[in-house]
Amino acid sequence: MGVDLRDIEKRWQEMWRENPLPSPVKTDDEEKARELAEEAASEPVDSLSESPTSEPEATNASSESLPISPDNAAAANGDSGFGDGLSSQDGAESATPVEPDAADEKSPGEPTSTTESSEVTAEESAAASEEKPPRRRRRRGPRTFFSLDMFPYPSLDGFSVSQLRGVATNDVVARYQQSRGKRVLRPIGWDAFQASVEEEARQKEISPRQVVDQGVELMREQLRRFGALVHWDHEVDTSDPEDYRWSQWLFLQLREKGLVHQDDAGWKVAITDYAEPLHSGLKNLKWPPRTKALQRNWIGRREGTKLVLKASSELYDGWEELEVFARKIEALPEASFVVLCPEHPLLEKIVDPIQENDVRDLQERAAQLDERERIANRAESDGVATGAYALNPATLEPIPIWVSSYVMPDIRFGAILGMPEENEAHKDFANRHGIPLTGAGGNSGRRRRRPPRRRQGGESSDQKKGLQGSLESRGLTEPHIDYKLHDWVFDRQRFWGVPIPMIECDECGTVPVAESDLPVKLPDVDRLEKVDAGENPLASFEEWRAVDCPSCGKGALRSVDTMPDWIGSCWGHLRCLDPRFSEAIASREHLQRWTPANLCVGGIEHAELHLMYVRFVSHFLADLGVTPRQEPYRRLFNQGRIRSQETANDNEAEASRRGPRVIASEYLDHYGADALRLHLLFMGPPQDHVEWSDEGLKGCARFLQRTHEAISQRIGKGKFVSRNVLVAKHRLIRRVTRAIRTYRLNKAVSAFMEFIKLLRGDEFSMDEVDKQTLRTFTILLAPFAPHMAHELWEQLGEAGPLTSESWPEHSDELLQPTEVELAVFVNDSLVDRMTVELEATKNQVIDQALELNKVQERTGGKSADRVIHVPDRLLKLVYSQGNESAEETPPEEPFFDPNS
Ligand SMILES: [Zn+2]
Repeated sequence: MGVDLRDIEKRWQEMWRENPLPSPVKTDDEEKARELAEEAASEPVDSLSESPTSEPEATNASSESLPISPDNAAAANGDSGFGDGLSSQDGAESATPVEPDAADEKSPGEPTSTTESSEVTAEESAAASEEKPPRRRRRRGPRTFFSLDMFPYPSLDGFSVSQLRGVATNDVVARYQQSRGKRVLRPIGWDAFQASVEEEARQKEISPRQVVDQGVELMREQLRRFGALVHWDHEVDTSDPEDYRWSQWLFLQLREKGLVHQDDAGWKVAITDYAEPLHSGLKNLKWPPRTKALQRNWIGRREGTKLVLKASSELYDGWEELEVFARKIEALPEASFVVLCPEHPLLEKIVDPIQENDVRDLQERAAQLDERERIANRAESDGVATGAYALNPATLEPIPIWVSSYVMPDIRFGAILGMPEENEAHKDFANRHGIPLTGAGGNSGRRRRRPPRRRQGGESSDQKKGLQGSLESRGLTEPHIDYKLHDWVFDRQRFWGVPIPMIECDECGTVPVAESDLPVKLPDVDRLEKVDAGENPLASFEEWRAVDCPSCGKGALRSVDTMPDWIGSCWGHLRCLDPRFSEAIASREHLQRWTPANLCVGGIEHAELHLMYVRFVSHFLADLGVTPRQEPYRRLFNQGRIRSQETANDNEAEASRRGPRVIASEYLDHYGADALRLHLLFMGPPQDHVEWSDEGLKGCARFLQRTHEAISQRIGKGKFVSRNVLVAKHRLIRRVTRAIRTYRLNKAVSAFMEFIKLLRGDEFSMDEVDKQTLRTFTILLAPFAPHMAHELWEQLGEAGPLTSESWPEHSDELLQPTEVELAVFVNDSLVDRMTVELEATKNQVIDQALELNKVQERTGGKSADRVIHVPDRLLKLVYSQGNESAEETPPEEPFFDPNS
């Protein structure tokens, strides 16, 4: 039955436990002195910019500890970055050859138009490459690589397989970077104030502290047993008072800069003040385009016009002014209605008495919803007529004013000008509520078909000028940039969170806690009592609440609100650099060297809000001068969720939230770490959602046993290396390296499987597989299955540590093919494959294909109506008769890996 994988893993885990990884952040004094001298000699750093010239400051490290190998030197010269320009999308990768200098290699400071367009064509390329090293780097020794996992939340269930999928992905990249001579930092943080912790504590009737302590202990052990590369000196627990004091400090700083305000609904942080930098900063980030699109959409930057309308109602005496935002002023004649937010001050004045009750009901309902619920309700947005109307300034026709909870008070003046002709959502709203289209597009409710827009282009622009001019002269418009983004609701009414460091005094009002009195610690509890909904749990801790007012000294009360769940992980990655530093979040020196993080891996569910807040905090800390970089993570990778088979059919919205988790511990126990790692990586491209399957996991365990057998049998047997073996080896290097660079880690696993199949088959004799080939295989396997790789390395009799081996490079020359296999399609069916000379012309290839028996059977040798030829990949003969539809894009099937 083969070797016992768990025995192997246990032995190596013991070894690693006894020899924990030394911190890569600490430097000895000599090194420090040298760096300081170099820094002094170099140009001053613009502390807020991310320009390439400031980059070297973040990248120096000891040249003694990791010598520059020829490979590393090449990398330092800029000839090969991480994922240098390799597109990761299958289609793009195979249909169009991608130049090594493709646009995603742009350094952050360069113009962005190409970066932007490359996002569209090479979808995940953003996730795949490393910044271009500046010229001075070589002199400075190995570069740093700060590789971050989004902080997992502690749970007594331990990790889910989805979370470990992210860890495994990050681990492969980190180990690969290490092999390439980078000084890698891989910290770990626990997002311990998550609401789920409080829920778990209530369910189990213990304290949240116990959930965190026991959960973290379990999950630490799981990471060790998973073979994850973790620097345990860089561990952060966001519920540790010495850690969350910095969240409170951050709150006081935000308040001092005028970014915090309190209204009836609670504390809010004016993230809206940062809308523009948050929008423009996106273009410099190598993040997945999907995530960037979500962020852009959330910010919702729009250029347009601010418009002042006159509003009134039947029984109202006089006119009120109402500000709205219009994107296209020339479409103004079509404006058919206005929708106000329930909080709009105008409502108190102009609502028609008949509608008053309805409006008040809606206002009360809206007050029960939080902002996310209100926005999520968009599709079935409620709506009530106010009976009031506004005058369309273009037509002077009255248009009705409505209220809906979907409209938020701090977005676009809390009002929407309904343009059903321009906007689908507006049209839906009008249809749903039977609002007649009174503008140019409609006549007493009946739609008139308008001529196509393009034909009236000239008229439209004249119209715009005329309209704009007349409105401007009446003082009714001004240019305006608007953002959908709204302020950050900063308080939660939960026990388990960071207390907001404010004090309510009868005499002095709301007073901040002095910085020297931080942290404001949570009260200790043995277990959480049941709390009624709507009640603030901290309010019942009267002793904790009572405090002397810092201003007048009289008795006062602490704020009982706590901060958002994930506040700690908004800046926690900085804290990881130096978790025990007591003077600031982290020392200037470490921030300078290690930020921004090179890579952050986490679930796609964080793509909108969480990442927006992380970026906001990062920009704010940069403005304060705390950190030298505005953006937190240079590169981001979002792994897809793993759903259990039972829930895979649930609706997407449910499944994409936290949903039921597949717990990892049982699988880790039964199959071991390496099998689980390979399975998680092999399930599909790591960014895709997949279904969990036990079968695949068993297959990976079997593969590891075969690997052990195949390598062990050949150790000491090889006498030389044949050309075939050499080609197979270099092909493996190329496939695995490319797979890592493009985050298609599943392809690396299949490359390993195919290689082991070759070793086990009859193709290679015992003599012709030399030790070097086995060594190379083991080095490549190490990031994926570290335990097995270390075991094989030892069996190979290697003395040096596997982790300090450099990453192998393939030889292009050796892999230069002279001929290539093409898949031949007739319409949409794959009918045959054929081998053609690389130099063959399109016509030669077509002639050769028409000779094939299987093609003749289908076509009678007739020439095709249209031919799609993707050199190196496929030939598609399209015949237009019959029932097939001549598709432009070839089907998915033929896009196999070019190296296979
Ligand atoms: Zn006072």
